[in-house]
Amino acid sequence: MSKFAVDPGHGCYLDTGAEGHLNEQNCALDIANRVINKLQMLGHQAWNARPSSASSVTNSLQQRCDSATNADYLISMHLNEVKYLHRRKKVDNICKK
Ligand SMILES: [Zn+2]
Repeated sequence: MSKFAVDPGHGCYLDTGAEGHLNEQNCALDIANRVINKLQMLGHQAWNARPSSASSVTNSLQQRCDSATNADYLISMHLNEVKYLHRRKKVDNICKK
């Protein structure tokens, strides 16, 4: 069993992430909740690393890192804007052990 801190990007201190047809902070949270549920069903420990409040973006990022201190993995989820899907595709997911 492993420990996963799952960070839905943005969503704290006026930081919504990319906005357009969809909203990054909400999509990241939806995906993160699904990933957390799946990991828990597989017997892993998994939790949401997004703080409920923060005094700044920097403080928000620090709280996410603090939440992952005892994790084996930190998964930070972002869904970057894709204006021209036929020209480029870019979605970042960073996993750090
Ligand atoms: Zn992002």
